[in-house]
Amino acid sequence: MANGGRVPILYFRTQHAPILTTLAQSFVSKAFWKVAIDAFRDPATDFRVRHAWATIFKATVVHHAQTATLTLSCRVGAQGLFAYNDIISHHASLLGIAIAEGDILGLCIRLVSELLIGRYSLPESTHPDSLLARHEKGLLSQGRALLEKMQHHRSDEFNRFILPKCDSIVRAIGHRMAYDAAVDAGLDSTITDLYLVTAVKLDSAWYVEKEKHSCAVQDATEDEAIVAALPRLDDWLDQTGVEAYCQVPILSQSNWDTFVNGLKEHTSPTSQLLAKL
Ligand SMILES: Cc1cc2nc3c(=O)[nH]c(=O)nc-3n(C[C@H](O)[C@H](O)[C@H](O)COP(=O)(O)OP(=O)(O)OC[C@H]3O[C@@H](n4cnc5c(N)ncnc54)[C@H](O)[C@@H]3O)c2cc1C
Repeated sequence: MANGGRVPILYFRTQHAPILTTLAQSFVSKAFWKVAIDAFRDPATDFRVRHAWATIFKATVVHHAQTATLTLSCRVGAQGLFAYNDIISHHASLLGIAIAEGDILGLCIRLVSELLIGRYSLPESTHPDSLLARHEKGLLSQGRALLEKMQHHRSDEFNRFILPKCDSIVRAIGHRMAYDAAVDAGLDSTITDLYLVTAVKLDSAWYVEKEKHSCAVQDATEDEAIVAALPRLDDWLDQTGVEAYCQVPILSQSNWDTFVNGLKEHTSPTSQLLAKL
């Protein structure tokens, strides 16, 4: 389609952007994972804060993975629906992970309630001027301001106005923590810039309203980050090291041929007769 000529499907922004975004999120999540594990295991830290790290990591990373598996599954069309390509079955596993060992929403409701009441607080951002740190601070301040107008956190207003926001507030904290971890670990800025702009877009309206960060600026910054990331695609895929573990039919022509040749052939007397004609 570019200038009327034929192009690979990867040329389309709608195809390469979700792949690059998922890769950036996976690298940043790995940096976040290392920091979260250290914080969770630190015996000098208040146990409730250690528990908070686990909740925030789970809520943030499971959400990234769930979004990625659904989006990527759609981008390979009907092939995304087949369990043999492992994308949609991975999404089903994530639904279980989200519930098992602590349902994410339940964990988030508890954490946000305790943070707003002020029972304990989380470590400050190492990049307090970043958009993500300002977002986190802004959402918690808004929550505290709302709580002040209510009788207490077990009120009907809390149920109506705060509970529906708890998971997105926890993910906002997680985006900030993940970004801080990745920048502090020295990850390539192509990765951290893309993570930042895509995280901003998850609550786009807030940035327009509170930071005067317009939709046009958000689009332009996202475009810049994706254009910078695209030449890194093969390199990033290699860096994941997962190729050996995802040998599904859709991955290559030879995998597809092996898969098709291995399918059981069903025949009937009529089809055998037709074959002889
Ligand atoms: C794959 C998988 C493996 C599992 N393995 C085990 C295992 O090995 N051993 C074991 O004992 N259990 C296991 N479980 C069970 C698991 O621990 C529970 O499913 C989980 O704790 C959620 O509890 P529930 O299913 O009773 O949902 P509920 O607690 O009934 O939650 C149902 C819905 O209500 C919401 N909700 C619940 N409480 C509140 C609240 N206070 N405020 C607002 N909303 C709320 C939840 O967010 C959810 O949307 C497993 C579950 C899965 C999916």
